[in-house]
Amino acid sequence: MAFPIDRFQSEPTPFYYYDMELLRQTLDVVVAQSGKYNFHVHFAVKANANPRLLAEINKAGLGIDCVSGYEVECAIQNGFSPEKIVFAGVGKSDWEIRLALEAGILCFNVESIPELEVINEMASQLGKTADVALRINPNVDAHTHQYITTGMEENKFGIGLWEVETVCTRIKQMSNIRLRGIHFHIGSQITDLSVFQMLCTRINELQKWFEENKIKLDIINVGGGLGVDYEHPDEKPIANFEEYFAVFHRFLELRDGQEVHFELGRAIVAQCGSLITRVLYVKEGQQKKFAIVDAGMNDLIRPALYHAYHKIENITSDASSEKYDVVGPVCESSDCFGKAAVLNSTKRGDLIAIRSAGAYGEVMSSRYNLRRFAGCLV
Ligand SMILES: *Cc1c(COP(=O)(O)O)cnc(C)c1O
Repeated sequence: MAFPIDRFQSEPTPFYYYDMELLRQTLDVVVAQSGKYNFHVHFAVKANANPRLLAEINKAGLGIDCVSGYEVECAIQNGFSPEKIVFAGVGKSDWEIRLALEAGILCFNVESIPELEVINEMASQLGKTADVALRINPNVDAHTHQYITTGMEENKFGIGLWEVETVCTRIKQMSNIRLRGIHFHIGSQITDLSVFQMLCTRINELQKWFEENKIKLDIINVGGGLGVDYEHPDEKPIANFEEYFAVFHRFLELRDGQEVHFELGRAIVAQCGSLITRVLYVKEGQQKKFAIVDAGMNDLIRPALYHAYHKIENITSDASSEKYDVVGPVCESSDCFGKAAVLNSTKRGDLIAIRSAGAYGEVMSSRYNLRRFAGCLV
């Protein structure tokens, strides 16, 4: 990526840099490829809630997928139409449900019977009918990291396959619930597209059950989870949306009038963002060198939390490369962005780019060690 180094030099570090041109190109591909099949795409705002990005995403016509009441508020404040908002989450507080009902969102993705009961009760208090999709746990192994797989049986998410019948019987007795569809989200950073084919097979099986039981579904929400290439952000800046949407087109057996909805987060925003940080010191150990930078795990927690890999580059040096452990200043051994990262020979004052940080980066930052939040440049 060609970074605007001159602009970076006058900017206090650390900061997130977003390449808006890449975001626009990515959105163009998403819109074109999903548009081929009239698929509906919601951006999973938990991946990045930066208003500058949300403005582009809104302009491209995407909807929003929320997992908290604050995200519902954020989506509305950033101009998204409530009819394009879906709301998932295993633990929705009463105020969050009320807020979403009053806003008139498209659909609650419901994860349990007790949740349905509360939504039904609050909808009746407000004199409304809540549109819901059942989040079903399809027991598909996403072949991804254990912390980011969500579709397996022993997971806290969703309604088990064995419960679907009970749930549907209960819904019939709930006068303020309208069952609109079924919802799935099996994990994140999925790069093996056969996993999505497997999901389609499960959905097709389930659809037969719903049909036999004369329950009409208009929304099939297949969630998100498409992965990006963290190793090669420059070679593959845009995920393979063409094949991804084609898998669902090819393998989902839809009934008349059914809409297919997607909830993509990472694949839309990961590659356009980098965390830019300055080298404070190069510390020589006995076996290795440490590049100590001014960004910490509070700014980007993915390496510490998931052992996630991010490509790291020294963007102000062209000296021959060496290996460094790139570490932050936070008082935790896990505050390390990369071990034995190959960087152009590095010295104090150099700028380092931690790549593919546009998803689950800025939005997961904290003020641990009472550090201030990183800035933002677009
Ligand atoms: C996190 C999440 C998404 C987005 O996942 P990505 O891997 O970022 O595409 C979609 N739907 C739900 C319900 C989620 O929790």
